[in-house]
Amino acid sequence: MNRPDNDGASAPDEPTQPKVSKPSNDSLQADLAKESASTKDAVIDQEPAVLKHERVTASREDTVLQREDTVTSREDTVQMREDTADAREKSVELREVSVQLREKAAALTEMTLEDHQLAEQLQTAKDQLDHLAYYDRLTDLPNRLLVQDRLSQAIEGAHAQNARLAVMVLDLDRFKHINDSLGHAVGDLLLQSVAHRLIESVRPSDTISRQGGGEFVLLFATIEQAEEAARYAQKILAALALPHRIDRYDLHITVSIGISLYPEDGLDTETLIRSAETALYVAKRTGRNHYQFFEQDMTSRAIQRQAIEASLRRALERQEFVLHYQPKINLHTGTIAGVEALIRWQHPKQGLVMPAQFVPIAEDSGLILPIGRWVMREACLQARAWREAGGLPITMAVNTSTLEFSDKDFIKNIQAILAETGLKPPCLELELTETVLMQNTESSESVLQALTDIGIKLAIDDFGTGYSSLSYLQQFPIHTLKIDQAFVRRMTGSPDDATIVTAVINMAKSLKLGVIAEGVETREHCAFLRDQQCDEGQGYYFSRPTAAEALTPLMNVGTKYGC
Ligand code: C2E
Ligand code: MG
Ligand code: MG
Repeated sequence: MNRPDNDGASAPDEPTQPKVSKPSNDSLQADLAKESASTKDAVIDQEPAVLKHERVTASREDTVLQREDTVTSREDTVQMREDTADAREKSVELREVSVQLREKAAALTEMTLEDHQLAEQLQTAKDQLDHLAYYDRLTDLPNRLLVQDRLSQAIEGAHAQNARLAVMVLDLDRFKHINDSLGHAVGDLLLQSVAHRLIESVRPSDTISRQGGGEFVLLFATIEQAEEAARYAQKILAALALPHRIDRYDLHITVSIGISLYPEDGLDTETLIRSAETALYVAKRTGRNHYQFFEQDMTSRAIQRQAIEASLRRALERQEFVLHYQPKINLHTGTIAGVEALIRWQHPKQGLVMPAQFVPIAEDSGLILPIGRWVMREACLQARAWREAGGLPITMAVNTSTLEFSDKDFIKNIQAILAETGLKPPCLELELTETVLMQNTESSESVLQALTDIGIKLAIDDFGTGYSSLSYLQQFPIHTLKIDQAFVRRMTGSPDDATIVTAVINMAKSLKLGVIAEGVETREHCAFLRDQQCDEGQGYYFSRPTAAEALTPLMNVGTKYGC
């Protein structure tokens, strides 16, 4: 650190003045250390040794002058007077120097004290920097660096003792959505709440670290069996599932956990963390809200998925996606009431790839957002084209995934597409699963209301397979229930499924909702549904999903389908 240069304030050149070297800070500090009781003022009042030496030298000269005065000639006397005057002058100058030096010494002492304070401040700043380098600012948990360090130590320990350890990578499901919809301040408080519950769920000897975003890494340095790690994972899932009271919200969150074990899933820090991340990835893909141990073949599957993800990106650019349309039949009149747009990937080598093979990957990677926009635009253009070609007024149904639904630009994008294509909002229907709706009930309600206000229709897809509470049916502005095909497929053979289908139809009627059955494959299915007063049916019995051109003639003549 630069200090002001005191030399600039030193006394003018003095031939008689002994050379006073500026005391170094070090020596002053050493002096200070010796005289521990000395305060700043006390030091100022002391006469530095070097000044005492000055004075002694000056008074000796005076004495010599006086003695010689008595024996010298007139010239000498004059000379001596001049000398005496000179000496007095020098004495005055010396005193001035003395004062100046005292001041300098005081200044230096002050500097030394400041140095002490500065050193302390520096140490504090350094400690804080060290803390920042190894701890997460938001949660004060160890960060990525520190947990890696601890993990490598734990690996050494486990190696030496022939013991096991477990690494968990935990990620908040759809954390981005919470941040986007409720704001980062709420997101931050939620992370702190999660950190707190994690601390309470594990042993003090275990390390919990935050990696960034909604991701945490946990290190269990001593684990006897894989089951022990599983028990901790269950405990953590349960602890985090309880509502988090943040601000005015009761946030219900889920997390996914990937677990790797030493030595079977990796012998070093990097491999163990990567294995746990791979397991996490699988946990996310297979429904979230659970834990998953690493398995060896996951790595090759993960590589395969990465390859699919890369080619999906290219598919979008090269326009390899196509939409097929499956009619929905009005069971009372037998006419086409609408169609559902279903995406396919026309792969240059693999041929037609079905959505089950790529939609989940598109959802995980976020690619579903541009893909979904493409689907929406393409479907609306097709609906408009059929209408312009003189087809019957039909509804175009488009499937909507969670990520799309929670995208902040979702409504804006739909409005832009409707404006661009000229399709009337009531001709568009969104199919949403119960899972999509229940992810965030508060924001779902407002999004659904906004969509309804625009005039867009809303249907619950795969009804009966998701959320067990029906209260949301009153809460949300829904128009249609779409009975899941699993019930429909079994209803003519299983009385239980028949009861469920009948109950859903009746419930829809009493709630004044439309009802449609998907997966109608046989004449019996069709007849059963018609007898139960189900409004619409959709399935292979009527038509498989097909390219638009194949459907165009059927649209125009108003084809009738019967049981
Ligand atoms: P979903 O929306 O429930 O669509 C119904 C699925 O059942 C479709 O499969 C359809 O081809 C199939 N299906 C229709 N009738 C029958 C039948 O009688 N029997 C049987 N066994 N199956 C029938 P697909 O086209 O493979 O789509 C699967 C899922 O992929 C869809 O389920 C939907 O969740 C998703 N999906 C399709 N297209 C899109 C899209 O554009 N965007 C999004 N986000 N998801 C899509
Ligand atoms: Mg659907
Ligand atoms: Mg469905």
